[in-house]
Formats: sequence, C-alpha cells, structure tokens
Amino acid sequence: MTSRATIDTITGTNLVAREERHNGTAELRGTDPRTGTELDPAFHEATTDEVAGAAAAAEDAFRVLRTWDDARRAAMLRTIADRLDGAGEALVERADRETALGSSPRLTGELARTTNQLRAFARLVDDGWYAEAIIDRGGDGSPDVRRQLVGLGPVAVFGASNFPLAFGVAGGDTAAALAAGCPVVAKGHPSHPGTSELVARAILAALEEVGAPAGTFSLIQGASPEVGRAVVLAPEIRAVGFTGSHAGGRALADLAQTRPEPIPVYAEMGSVNPLFVLPAAAAARAGEIAEGFAGSMTLGVGQFCTKPGLAFVPEGEAEALRQAVVSALEGNSGGPMLNARVRGAFAEELERLAALPGVEPVLSGTPDDGPLACAPSLLAADLDTFLRTEELRDEHFGPVSVVVSCPHERLTEAASAVPGSLTATIHADDEDADLAGTLQEVLTDRAGRIVYNGFPTGVAVVPAMQHGGPYPATTSPGHTSVGMTSIRRFLRPVAFQDAPDELLPPALRDANPLGIPRLVDWEWTREAIARPG
Ligand code: NAP
Repeated sequence: MTSRATIDTITGTNLVAREERHNGTAELRGTDPRTGTELDPAFHEATTDEVAGAAAAAEDAFRVLRTWDDARRAAMLRTIADRLDGAGEALVERADRETALGSSPRLTGELARTTNQLRAFARLVDDGWYAEAIIDRGGDGSPDVRRQLVGLGPVAVFGASNFPLAFGVAGGDTAAALAAGCPVVAKGHPSHPGTSELVARAILAALEEVGAPAGTFSLIQGASPEVGRAVVLAPEIRAVGFTGSHAGGRALADLAQTRPEPIPVYAEMGSVNPLFVLPAAAAARAGEIAEGFAGSMTLGVGQFCTKPGLAFVPEGEAEALRQAVVSALEGNSGGPMLNARVRGAFAEELERLAALPGVEPVLSGTPDDGPLACAPSLLAADLDTFLRTEELRDEHFGPVSVVVSCPHERLTEAASAVPGSLTATIHADDEDADLAGTLQEVLTDRAGRIVYNGFPTGVAVVPAMQHGGPYPATTSPGHTSVGMTSIRRFLRPVAFQDAPDELLPPALRDANPLGIPRLVDWEWTREAIARPG
C-alpha cells in the first residue's frame, strides 16, 4: 500500500521509507488523558517485515547520505525544522489531546525547542568542530596520521511519553543522528501515536524536498515489546537512542548485547535529581527555595526526568522548609497524568512509600476529577531512614518528592548514597562555600549536571549541556542526550595514515577546504597546512 496523505492527515499507518505500511492486525490508539476517551484513528502495529523493511531502507540511505557534504545535511535539518513549524498548529493540538500537557505554554514551547534543536544541529554541522579533525603530520620517521569522526550507520530512536515533541520522533536523538548523516528508524511512543505520525509526515515532506533517499527516516508504531525488540535486533541498526523508563532502557540495552554484532544503546532513563539546601541558604531564603522547589517538582504533573525527587535539608530548618513547601503547593491540584500505566504505577508507588517505616506523609493533595488526575504529594524522612531504605533512592515518576532532614555535617554522607543521577542541585550562600565545595566533589561523581541556586527542570540545548550521568540515570555515562555533543553517540573515529591528500575526506585535507577548526600538531587552527618536506 503506497498511497500518500497530506502532512496533517493521520491515517494510523507506519511510514516505511516514505510508504504507508499497515499489514499488521494488532492495533493501538491514543487516549485523551483528560477524559479517558480513546482517540481515532486506530494505528496498525508494525509487523516484523515492516521493521525489517525500514532497517534495510535505512542502510541503503546511509550509503547515499555519506556522500552528501556538510552544507547539504545542514540544509536538510533546517528544512525539517521549517516543515515542523509549518505543521505547528495541528501538531500542538494533537499532542495536547494525547498528553494533556497543555497547548500553551508547554507544547508550543516544546515545539519551538524541537525546531531550535534541529537548527542548532544544522549550525553545528556548518561549524564543523563536531568532526574532531585531528592531524599529526609526523616526519622524522613518524607517519602522517589524520583522524576524524564519521557517521555510524542507521540509528533506532525510542521516544518517551512525557516529551511528545522534544524527545519524540523528531527530538534530540533524531536531530543528532541526521546531523551525523545517520538515517533514523523511529519507534513512536504508544501514548501519542497521532503526534508521532504528524511529526513523521513533516519530516518525510522535508526529506523529499531536499532529495534525501527514501530510507532516511521511517516511523514504526507499536504497543507491544516485540516491535521495539525487532527494531533493536535489526542487523542494519548500528546504535540506539532511547529515552524512557529504567525498565525499558535496561531491557533494550541488554537485548542489544545479545545480537551477533552487539551495538551501543544510549538509554537516558529516570533519575532522582537530589537537591541539597545548605544551612546559610536555608536560614536566609527558605520560602523562596520552597516555592521554586514546589514549582519544579510539579512541573508537567511531576513527569520530568529532571524532577527533584529528593531534597536534603538541614535538620534545624527541616520543619520550616517542609511547611513552606506545603504552603507553596496549596491550591495545586496537579492534573491528568500521561497514561493509565503511568498513573497506576504512581498510585502504587505512593502507597508503598507512605507505608515504609520512618517515612511520614506530609501532604496528600486532592486531585480534580478525571480518570488520570493526580495531585502533588510530599513525604518526609530523616537521614538514617533514607540510608536504610532502598525504595527512597528510586525515581518516582509523578508529582511527589521526599524531604530528608539531615545534620549538616552529614550532607556529604547523604550525597554519597544517592544513585547516579541526571542532575544534582546545591542551594548555598557565601557562608556555605566550604561545605558546597566538599559536596560538589562528591556530587561530581554522582551526577551529569550540577545546578547552583536554581532548579533542575529545564535543560538548555547548548554546546556545553550535559544531560546524562552515571548508571542508573543512563547506560552510557560518557555521553549526553541533549546539547550539541550528543551527536558524538552516532559517530565513530577513523584515522588515515599516510593517505594521499586527494583521497582524504575534505575535513582532513591540507587546504582545509571546509575552513573548520582542526588540531594540527597539538595546536588548534583553521589555517591550511603544508606537509613537512
Ligand atoms: P517507557 O515506557 O520506557 O517507553 C519508552 C519507549 O520504549 C516506548 O516506545 C516503549 O514502547 C519502549 N519500551 C519500553 N520498554 C520496552 C521493552 N521492554 N521492550 C521494547 N520496547 C520497550 O518510558 P515512558 O513511560 O515513556 O517515560 C517515562 C520515563 O522516561 C521516566 O522514567 C522518565 O524519567 C524517563 N525520561 C527520561 C528522560 C531523559 O532524558 N533521561 C527524558 C524523558 C523521560 P512500548 O510502550 O510499546 O513498550
């Protein structure tokens, strides 16, 4: 079946190398979280043949894309951004129906972030530093060695439920992979299949406009683990970008290691994001910190991977801080969660947490009406309870945080016990500087990003950003999934030794025709070079 629909039509099909494929009999549907109503249309779950077709087409496309120069790839990314902007209204409307995250400011902001991200990757490709061009000209018996990064091959992308656009099928993983010249097979999240299809159609229209090969992008839909497993096991896939739960990320990372040719799975998973309030800061601005904390833990109904799930506060100020957080949460009735699975898991976890010895429920909010409605909760514990209770070190995806009262001289002991995390936050005033320094040393081992006097929700898409961290936050602590260096996941280095200039890729030629920054004999330069005589 190869009929074409317009960009803003949702037909419930898989999109395999620009063709509509719907041979599968299993179906899935989006659901409106506000009402619990199932949405039209029904989506066909991809068959293993359809997954195999997408992966094979991606391999063919890779052979073509690798012949494209950087400027053409950059133009491709900008055209995708333009098409997404063009589809903006329909996209935001459908995403809101499927997630209830709210059109404005949340989803319009997320769309802007998604398109800005694509344009930032276009700029990166133009700038050329991503290629890490390094030249050692040798001489005196040493060889001429020149090294750069090249695209890895087809990439599978698994988006998360809580960011239907920025971590969806045109999210950071797709942008980074396409920037690296890697075709993408995207597995849409079953929570927002219509949004995924609309985004995919915009991408495909852009790719057609710039003359990209058909297999550069495919969308695979599915709600059963078999579909995702088939994508990871497809022999043509060379790497996986995953955003989602710990269980999902770990399952797919383990699966990838069972392939005859194991591949990397860059899984960005959940995180507890500890926040530490130091004594002088607590004494000086408890109310302000509590207000910011309450806002951060309830943003998107607590469904942020960067939600601060643990707050360590000095013993003497703990009661005042807890009460300030409760006051800040007053009148906050939360909202609908993303889907029944997330809502059900959260309710079970809350019940289990509140029953743990030493854990005190401080606030159990009253939600509005609605099948998936959920209001904020706050729990309290002391440091010894935290240290002996493993469940308090897990991510709880939803609007709950645990305030842990802690003698200030034991804050570093608390920090040593938190698991690998995407972020850690320190609230410190000038008088706290020594303690902050010691804490930072410990937290540098535990987190990918350390935030001072702010809150961890919200991740800027900039070259310096690090959105990753030690396991269990990710399966690959050496990488980031946000920011320009996230492209590194989908590249691999190749060195050319004593290669003739005309056979070298442009980034490594003597004349530096791309004008990119290169490390030549240990010095950064954009200048052309000569070979030693
Ligand atoms: P999820 O249920 O793990 O889903 C992510 C994707 O993986 C879906 O396409 C899902 O498809 C697939 N999947 C999950 N388990 C699988 C398995 N065993 N086999 C094959 N495919 C599998 O995650 P989610 O509920 O959408 O997201 C919530 C979580 O994501 C939270 O923990 C949150 O903290 C985390 N998150 C992390 C980041 C980050 O940057 N680190 C960003 C956003 C969210 P099926 O449902 O069809 O299996």
